[in-house]
Amino acid sequence: MSANDALAPILFSVPFRAPAAPDNLAAVIASDHVHGDGPFTKSASAKLVELTGSPTVLLTTSGTAALEMAVRLLGIGEGDEVIVPSFTFSSGAASIVAAGGVPVFVDIEGDSGNVDPVEVEKAITSKTKAISVMHYGGAPVDMDAIMAISRKHNIPVIEDNAHGLAVNSRYGALGTIGSVAIQSFHDTKNIHCGEGGAVLINDPALVEAAEIMREKGTNRSKFLRGQVDKYTWVDWGSSYLPSELNAAVLDAQLDAFEGIQERRFEIWNTYSEALTDWAKSLGGAVMSPINGEHAAHVFYVLMPDQDTRDALLEYLRSNGVIGTFHYVPLHSSPAGNKYGRTVGSLAKTDSFAGRLARLPLWPGMTDAQIAYVIDTVKAFQK
Ligand SMILES: *Cc1c(COP(=O)(O)O)cnc(C)c1O
Repeated sequence: MSANDALAPILFSVPFRAPAAPDNLAAVIASDHVHGDGPFTKSASAKLVELTGSPTVLLTTSGTAALEMAVRLLGIGEGDEVIVPSFTFSSGAASIVAAGGVPVFVDIEGDSGNVDPVEVEKAITSKTKAISVMHYGGAPVDMDAIMAISRKHNIPVIEDNAHGLAVNSRYGALGTIGSVAIQSFHDTKNIHCGEGGAVLINDPALVEAAEIMREKGTNRSKFLRGQVDKYTWVDWGSSYLPSELNAAVLDAQLDAFEGIQERRFEIWNTYSEALTDWAKSLGGAVMSPINGEHAAHVFYVLMPDQDTRDALLEYLRSNGVIGTFHYVPLHSSPAGNKYGRTVGSLAKTDSFAGRLARLPLWPGMTDAQIAYVIDTVKAFQK
């Protein structure tokens, strides 16, 4: 790599290609079971139960679909409030609005990007029906504090674990702590099937409702297990299950997960070692999760202010490195203003979002590319 290699910029994210995917796909195409809940769905779900530690994993067509299911399963309806960080993906709030609920945006802790439990408790009203948290970069939200609030006010918790697959944190395995959790298998995530997701049901009382909701509101799952002799429409539902084609790709990715994570952590650790002092010298910081608990999903630097961050991203781009910011805070988005409500100043959210720059991180990166990213970042002058 050279600085003049402008024709081949180092991309921000390149989807992993699982070696077994073509054979898996060919097997589905040659079979009589291409719709959902076939052998690959069963296999991938079982692997996810093992990997996450959640007792029930149901594949969905996306992380967004899984969030919609989670919200509906907790009975959120017209006018119900769900507390959610402003610093998250839009689906975290859109899924609440889709059920008729109101997202109530709260601030994060300034150093991790994770929701601040103190702000969560401040936002509770008589209309609060759920608390939705998102483990940013797979670094854990303070789940001890969140679950204490949940018990005290008897309000269930949704974990958006799109970034944190298989992270074992000091609070427990991510995705197993709240009543319901979600994963995303969008091709920008650590493992993917193009578009896909899963809902993790940790509260056994929700399993039957989840199966019905996912199968168009029918009790088809019970029928297939021989528990009823015919199936019919029994409740609200939609088509949330992916076809076997997606499941076949996901199953192949799951087989490669260990190697993917190994490489992602190598890159993450190389960035961390090389850039910590550099960031400090500029008055900034690098992502530094406590106990090393994270998923190597993102590596970010925090610049001292937004102008410096914007200048860094521009400098990287003009030198063939595609870095990027992350979430535009939802409380100031057009739909957030229209449908949501904000509690507190959200100053930390605005600051964190404005100062954050993510670096390329994908398992196919070569050592030379990693070194080039580091050299380029370090060459940036304020
Ligand atoms: C990617 C992502 C989602 C949505 O997942 P899709 O599969 O793209 O619908 C939800 N929440 C977070 C935090 C995400 O990063």
